[in-house]
Amino acid sequence: MQHLSAALARIAPSRTTAMTDRAMELRAQGRDVISLSVGEPDFATPAHVVEAAKRALDEGDTRYTAVAGTPALRQAAALHFRRDLGIDVPPSQVIVSAGGKQAIFHALLATLDPGDEVLIPSPWWVSYPEIVRFAGSSVVDLPTDAAGGFRITAAQLEAAITPRTRWLLLNSPGNPTGATYPAEELRALGDVLRRHPRVLVMSDDIYAPLRYGEGAHATLAVECPDLAERTLTVSGVSKSHAMTGFRIGVAAGPLWLVNAMARLQSHSSGNPASISQAAAVAAFAGPQDFLLDWRERFRARRDMVVAAINAIPGLSTPVPDGAFYCMVDAAPLMARFGDDDALALHLLEHGVAVVPASAFGGRDGFRISFAADEATLAEALRRIAGAVA
Ligand code: GLU
Repeated sequence: MQHLSAALARIAPSRTTAMTDRAMELRAQGRDVISLSVGEPDFATPAHVVEAAKRALDEGDTRYTAVAGTPALRQAAALHFRRDLGIDVPPSQVIVSAGGKQAIFHALLATLDPGDEVLIPSPWWVSYPEIVRFAGSSVVDLPTDAAGGFRITAAQLEAAITPRTRWLLLNSPGNPTGATYPAEELRALGDVLRRHPRVLVMSDDIYAPLRYGEGAHATLAVECPDLAERTLTVSGVSKSHAMTGFRIGVAAGPLWLVNAMARLQSHSSGNPASISQAAAVAAFAGPQDFLLDWRERFRARRDMVVAAINAIPGLSTPVPDGAFYCMVDAAPLMARFGDDDALALHLLEHGVAVVPASAFGGRDGFRISFAADEATLAEALRRIAGAVA
């Protein structure tokens, strides 16, 4: 007899990965489909990282490691948190997981009880609300819009906090909007959080290396050091070093929380893959200069996509400040297509896979990832224009 747990019944499959799988299936059938659905850099993984992985294999680095990561990687990740995000933590306060997604999963599962509430600004990354629901807790939507830069305000946060609030999830630069919080806005959020000691904060900074504005990256644990003891900052190598398949994410936070995550991880995956960990040491500790070039190329693609989308009647998008996504508004086309799922299917029929806005708690639009080469993007945009003409 087939049976699903009540916990699983509360969640849907990831729609970013579902759309990507669908695009791969169609391609396998010989259909010409461009996938702008998943957020995955098209650049080759840097050679020094690949070399480190090969060396690990050759040297027999193929066994269990410590659950929370090898000492070398926790140290390299601590270096990354200090150098790139300004967060000073010892390696003992860093955990390595199989992707940022697993770190987030474990942090939420280790701390949430039924009845707890989790504040998530929307549009949100698809997995945040599903993980919260899996844990049996409630999602509290903090809606944002393009006019407000897709950022929540301190007043909005204050109004949403209740005695049951357990977490606030922040993601800056954000997926799917690229929204990036400046330091003063984080400090204003911190003023609110200070009055509510029960609330933990997750700051998902995985896109921090991909910012297109002026100035340094701002993050809550640095802007409000007194809140660092209840802030978990998530990062990784997938986006910054084109290492999505390696599945390595890292998180830095208070010792009790890192230990709680490790306790759960010891029963789920155990340690992340040893080869991937060796590669990630090279990623964090090795040369970073290629990132400057990648960032400029992403910026050029962003500008190209934004200009092309805004030239298509019925579609519009603001300019994202970071990450590699555009949240496209297609509200004027809804009378014709019905809803954003129907529009995304229509685009798929025309050879472009995108993710409907509703997957992110948004509406009447879709997300495009611009982590694809210029010629592919140009062709995809031509198809989109043709499909909605
Ligand atoms: N974070 C990426 C995205 O949103 C990867 C896919 C996923 O895990 O959702 O496309």
